[in-house]
Amino acid sequence: MSVTVVIGAQFGDEAKGKITDYLAANARYVVRTGGGPNAGHSIHLPEGQVVLHQLSCGVLRSGTIGVSGPGMVLQLAKLEQEIADLERRGLFRGELMISDRAHALLPVHEAEDAWEDELRARVSPAAALGTTRMGIGPAYADRASRFGVRIADLLRPAVLREQLQILYATKGHLGNLPPAETVAGELAEIAGRLAPYVRPTEPVLWQAIARGERLLLEGAQSALLDLDFGTYPFVTSSHPTSAGALVGSGIAPTEVTEVIGVAKAYATRVGSGPFPTEDTGPQGEFLRRTGGERGASTGRPRRCGWLDLVMLRYAARLNGFTSLAITKVDVLGGLDEIPVSNQYVLPDGTTVQEVLPTYADDLARAQPVYERFEGWPEIHARLKERIHHEGVRALPPALRRYLEHIAAEVGVPVEYLGYGPQREETVRLEPALGAGRRSAVSAWTG
Ligand code: GDP
Repeated sequence: MSVTVVIGAQFGDEAKGKITDYLAANARYVVRTGGGPNAGHSIHLPEGQVVLHQLSCGVLRSGTIGVSGPGMVLQLAKLEQEIADLERRGLFRGELMISDRAHALLPVHEAEDAWEDELRARVSPAAALGTTRMGIGPAYADRASRFGVRIADLLRPAVLREQLQILYATKGHLGNLPPAETVAGELAEIAGRLAPYVRPTEPVLWQAIARGERLLLEGAQSALLDLDFGTYPFVTSSHPTSAGALVGSGIAPTEVTEVIGVAKAYATRVGSGPFPTEDTGPQGEFLRRTGGERGASTGRPRRCGWLDLVMLRYAARLNGFTSLAITKVDVLGGLDEIPVSNQYVLPDGTTVQEVLPTYADDLARAQPVYERFEGWPEIHARLKERIHHEGVRALPPALRRYLEHIAAEVGVPVEYLGYGPQREETVRLEPALGAGRRSAVSAWTG
């Protein structure tokens, strides 16, 4: 029996999709536990690139079942399109289950998302969150207020009509919404077509655990965007942490065997919010260009900067990482020197190493203190081939030192390495670097 949770350890886009796809080769179920079409997990298959938004990467492998789990907010028209696109390309090879407890993302949520961000910007331009405007925040807010519409409700016309009427009664401030009757009709139609996939997913997963099958819980967004523990209010409206993955799947904490934190070898952030190690100069531009740093769902250029160990330590404690996957080390190949932030100095002069300041404003003004690491050579095709076959032994010494430094400073072993975008350009390091550390929390020095 094993349940592995895969969590983004930074601000998103760490290549969770690619690491989950790698691990999915040995899993029976892969469950997306939160978010909606705002997520975009890119996977480079031999047949070309796939970007998954509302499907988990379980649907890409035969013998694997991809679950769009209870914690998600699903935009059904886009989900149907995503399925159709994969089928057309012959890449829909696994099976699909859609949780009946997931919520529906509705046109009113998109309208409200835009309304909310414009309202913030009117009060102060710096207060705009820069959301994807896909309605994710309002859909989760309505879910918590009990005004939401679940996927199950779409299959019961009377329930759907009543829930929509109540929901619409709370949206007088929006104006110009499509009539509730029209929305109900359209949604019921799509839900009818997707109905063969819709079911209570949690009992199926419990049975799988009881049979000793392997489950992966695939987090979307990332720890530093967590509603409560991220850089509030510049956060997402769900819990992209290991705890959130459990709530979003219906799996009990006692079933979890490992929690893998995925982090890039540098850092990026999309949208507004504090980002202490951001590099707005030519080196940041180098990272954006070389790393192809544009949002998979929105195409927005990502803000780029350097690895931040304060955030990584914080994410490790919050999620209980048992190992780290460090991705995109090839992007830094060929640099003479690589800065890594080990601590911050806050505006009041205090230093911070492990715990994120509560105020986004303090974090925005935090001064990172950098250590500089010797760079490693470019990871060209021949070296990739060697890493693929020989693992740890083939790593350039400077890269190995960089990874060992991360493991030692975060208190979590580095077990997986991404060194290129292709599916086979991920390796499990055996032994893991910094092995022997098992609990991120017990490694905490306070
Ligand atoms: P996710 O949402 O966390 O799955 O990440 P995204 O898919 O938004 O972004 C990761 C991007 O990096 C995608 O375009 C991947 O194809 C690419 N990628 C993943 N791993 C690597 C790697 O090790 N090296 C390079 N160069 N690109 C990678």
